[in-house]
Amino acid sequence: MSVSAQSLKQADANRTPDTSKPLLEVRNLEVEYWTRRGVVRAVDGVSFDIRPNEVFGLAGESGCGKSTIAHAVTRVLKPPAYITGGEVLFNNENILAMNDETLRGFRWEHLSIVFQSAMNSLNPVLTVGEQIIDVLQTHRQMNKKQARERARELLNVVGIDPNRIDSYPHQLSGGMRQRVVISIALALNPEMIVMDEPTTALDVVVQKQIIEEIQELKQKFGFSILFITHDLSLLVEFSDRIGIMYAGELIEVAPSRELFSAPKHPYTQRLMSSFPTIYGPRQELHGIAGSPPDLISPPSGCRFNPRCDVAIAGLCQQVHPELLQVGPLHRAACHLLNEEAADYARNTQ
Ligand code: SF4
Repeated sequence: MSVSAQSLKQADANRTPDTSKPLLEVRNLEVEYWTRRGVVRAVDGVSFDIRPNEVFGLAGESGCGKSTIAHAVTRVLKPPAYITGGEVLFNNENILAMNDETLRGFRWEHLSIVFQSAMNSLNPVLTVGEQIIDVLQTHRQMNKKQARERARELLNVVGIDPNRIDSYPHQLSGGMRQRVVISIALALNPEMIVMDEPTTALDVVVQKQIIEEIQELKQKFGFSILFITHDLSLLVEFSDRIGIMYAGELIEVAPSRELFSAPKHPYTQRLMSSFPTIYGPRQELHGIAGSPPDLISPPSGCRFNPRCDVAIAGLCQQVHPELLQVGPLHRAACHLLNEEAADYARNTQ
């Protein structure tokens, strides 16, 4: 993958990484799906920050709410999903309060999106060049020739021969299509890219190549990433910090290596022992017994309590655990991490 010197210079000039102030602040986000069966609160009071140039990963089992967060942050949720509470601040501006016109100007320019299936993201009846040019001409004052030249440059940036500019999506491999989607996400040099399972549909070799390319591009252009995946081993490798979701709630957040070596929440511990790692001795893998709860009527107290083998009887079923600070950058929501609750457990068991 090559990156033009001019693009890099421009990107460097545009970026002054500020490590002290978050770029994105998600505050008490709530999203509901209004279904015939009832209201499903898929995201319940989730808060996290992402700093400039940071990769923040969100992981958890299917249906835990991680992709719903990606869609909510980028305001692409459609009914029956509704954002019913919270704020999403981007450089102090609430994305959820933007009107349609402001949002159109904001999206792609500052925050862009890469979704799982490139085939669904790309228009099958337009060439890839036309689709990149469309984004450029909508947001930049460029004539057709300038936009086409920039589109060729962007294809080159993501490792596609610029001469494929007139190809239709079906004429490209799955990996190439996903690279095209990434080139569109990069087109306006945004500060942040939300990536929702961007490599899930690809084979492992192409997946590895694309992840390495994303890392290289991030290094050069300095954008932040909200990376959503169910693949925890990939996330540990790729992210600076990781948030673990369970049943619509964020239950643990920590720097990725810390989460990998010393997870605090019982669910994260079980999750970590359920996938193979490339580090350390070979270990037997363990699944997590049971399945995630139906969010129409989630369990009271800790939502993990029906599956938790260390639950504190009489407490975990009734009292909802708050996210506690358990390290300088580490928070987890479990009663066992609260000294008073742990004393209660010792005295009653
Ligand atoms: Fe298990 Fe209780 Fe901790 Fe929930 S709060 S993870 S049920 S010990």
